[in-house]
Amino acid sequence: MGNAVVVGAGVSGLLAAEVLARRFERVTVVERDEFAEGAAAFRGGVPQSRHVHVLWSRGLAALDALLPGVVTDLEGAGAVVIEAPEQMRWLSPAQWFTGVPGTHFLSASREVLESTLRRRIAERSTITFLARHEMTGLVAGQGDRAVRGVRLRERGRDGREITVDAGLVVVATGRSSRAADWLQRLGYPTPATDRFDAHLGYSSRYYRRPAAEGRWKAMYVQGNPDVPRGGVIVPIEGGRWLVTLIGQGEHQPPVEEKDWLAFASSLRSDELSEALADAEPLTDAVAFRATANEWTHFERAKRWPRGFLVIGDALCRFNPVYGHGMTVAALQAQVLAEQIAVREPVEIAARAREMQKAVAKCPQAAWAIATGEDSRYPGTDGPKPGTFGRMQQDYMARVVAAANTDPVVSEAFFAVLSLNRRPETLLAPRIALRATRRRT
Ligand SMILES: Cc1cc2nc3c(=O)[nH]c(=O)nc-3n(C[C@H](O)[C@H](O)[C@H](O)COP(=O)(O)OP(=O)(O)OC[C@H]3O[C@@H](n4cnc5c(N)ncnc54)[C@H](O)[C@@H]3O)c2cc1C
Repeated sequence: MGNAVVVGAGVSGLLAAEVLARRFERVTVVERDEFAEGAAAFRGGVPQSRHVHVLWSRGLAALDALLPGVVTDLEGAGAVVIEAPEQMRWLSPAQWFTGVPGTHFLSASREVLESTLRRRIAERSTITFLARHEMTGLVAGQGDRAVRGVRLRERGRDGREITVDAGLVVVATGRSSRAADWLQRLGYPTPATDRFDAHLGYSSRYYRRPAAEGRWKAMYVQGNPDVPRGGVIVPIEGGRWLVTLIGQGEHQPPVEEKDWLAFASSLRSDELSEALADAEPLTDAVAFRATANEWTHFERAKRWPRGFLVIGDALCRFNPVYGHGMTVAALQAQVLAEQIAVREPVEIAARAREMQKAVAKCPQAAWAIATGEDSRYPGTDGPKPGTFGRMQQDYMARVVAAANTDPVVSEAFFAVLSLNRRPETLLAPRIALRATRRRT
């Protein structure tokens, strides 16, 4: 059958739809929310969009390869590309980064990012959007050995139920995905989920960006195990700053006006609160608390139905503080493009299990970074690092400290953080020598 259904119109779903439209006659993107026509607007289905979202250079390159010219579109919509750490004030868990090279990232509101992608993708006449429809289950085919469509409930009005047939169903329903339940209802075992929860809380609000350009474009004051509180200022479209305060465990950042600046003043540096003291807030703060790293291992399933795939946060979600989710989504879309190239839709559906394994490789590096760092914090729920894990953490602390001032280590560190290179490249002798000869 020549049609595919993608469920969820977040970054993962949109990019998957773009890729699938290259091989399928029709692609339907199902989304439970309404879209504000053409505009960048908040949607309840993406509550995280009110918090800082940066797209690392690797993700940006992947996006531009998938949708040539999209970075120019984004910049036209007010997104800002920032050299990090050169154009920033960035206090690492050790010291400030000073005069060292790194990489770049794109800063924009998540709404602008998504609406720009949506506009580009909607240009394809074979992609249609079915908004205000919530997926409630899968439709089984071939004695439950295949998925042949989705069950949907129309939101509002009478809650009408419909089914949509599809040769391939791609679930990209984000952090709160029910993909494992849907699979289980088809008679498949529930996949195991690995979980590390550092109990990190976000609290964010918008400010008017001060007219005078300062010495920096963005600021990041990181916490560390001694002071697990941090804050980020990034420029976004509309002449605004998006400011996120971050805290772990009992250090949850407040949303109340009276406590906001006090929390900002309690970070490891006063620079962030001083910057905010002179700026005009445009909104109240909002909180986001469900930030655990969770990987549902669909790729390990012994049995897997034809015509079914799970991607994006529905597959693996990270502590957002490392900024990796959207880059991994873009990498998965690239892998999907490779997997389906020169194949017919029927063959693509038959290879669903291989494709699930292939896309599940994309989160590996981001997962290693996020869980390795998070398990440094004693309050993190999840497997504790063994001797080797603690050695790795000690080594990484030295790498970060060296990266603060050593250009060679800094370049290597940011190449890994932006997912351009594998984490193990930091073990190269020229990095190890520079990192370990310093005192941390
Ligand atoms: C606080 C926070 C900050 C973040 N910061 C960053 C960052 O700086 N950089 C970065 O790269 N990533 C960041 N992320 C991660 C990023 O938001 C996601 O990884 C990325 O957007 C990919 O998500 P997704 O498309 O898989 O899911 P989402 O973006 O969550 O989209 C899922 C979509 O599915 C829809 N949906 C859900 N259920 C159904 C259903 N049953 N039927 C129909 N539709 C449904 C939802 O309405 C939504 O539109 C952050 C995440 C959080 C929580």
